[in-house]
Amino acid sequence: MIYPIVGYGSPVLRKIAEPIDKDYPDLKQLVDDMYETMYAADGVGLAAPQIGLSIRVVVTGYPLYDEQTKTYGNIPIEHTLINPEILESVGEKKYYNEGCLSIPDVHEDVLRPEGIVLHWFDADWNEHTEEIHGMFARVAQHEIDHLDGKVFTDRLSPLRRTMIKRKLADVAAGKVRTLYRMKRP
Ligand code: ZN
Repeated sequence: MIYPIVGYGSPVLRKIAEPIDKDYPDLKQLVDDMYETMYAADGVGLAAPQIGLSIRVVVTGYPLYDEQTKTYGNIPIEHTLINPEILESVGEKKYYNEGCLSIPDVHEDVLRPEGIVLHWFDADWNEHTEEIHGMFARVAQHEIDHLDGKVFTDRLSPLRRTMIKRKLADVAAGKVRTLYRMKRP
């Protein structure tokens, strides 16, 4: 099932999401639906608050870049992050151009650590603690922000934030066109 995406301005995006336990009802179905929703919207990550659920569940899926052929693979690398927790930052902070399904038409460079040590459970409730880098680390940090009631535009400089103020107001007012279905605030 494809869920509508909750847009910037909705209170659920500002709430601290609750951890879940192993017995959360229909967890597998929810995770499947989140992947389906993410891919239908051409996203590379989706956090449960973006479909209106204030729980700590994230899915990520993005193609792997092959340095030798300089192309992206066809099969996405997927990770289901349940109750994810960033234990440590690793390496230098880097800028990367981010966007968000909840904030259409806004793309801005965001400064974040290049790597993190992440602890999480997957959909089969296997426990993971891994040092992750690159695209996975970037998407994970963006999505974990959603679980903490933050969006990527919160991390911009005051000047950049002023420059996109009008666009954010438009999204919050539902004045935005998307190829995927959005739930108006
Ligand atoms: Zn987002």
